[in-house]
Amino acid sequence: MMLGGAQSDIGNRLVVELFNVHIVCDDCGHSRTLYLSNLRKAAELGVQNYRELCRKIRCGECPPMPPHARNLSITPYWRCEPIDQTLA
Ligand SMILES: [Zn+2]
Repeated sequence: MMLGGAQSDIGNRLVVELFNVHIVCDDCGHSRTLYLSNLRKAAELGVQNYRELCRKIRCGECPPMPPHARNLSITPYWRCEPIDQTLA
């Protein structure tokens, strides 16, 4: 099944538009957050958009795996949108 248009739009959004990114590993439960400083670093290393960023993200606790084998739940928070705290 094809991903919806909204999903691909998100993939094309720039890393520098992100506020932060919350990552949870579904395999080991390890979670972490990429903050602005991490995102700027990624941008400096040549990561342009969110899709490329997702490919780079991996769990720090699990052994390295190819992107398609990772079980990561990645939640992006964009700078131009209010952060929804109601689910916290
Ligand atoms: Zn893990």
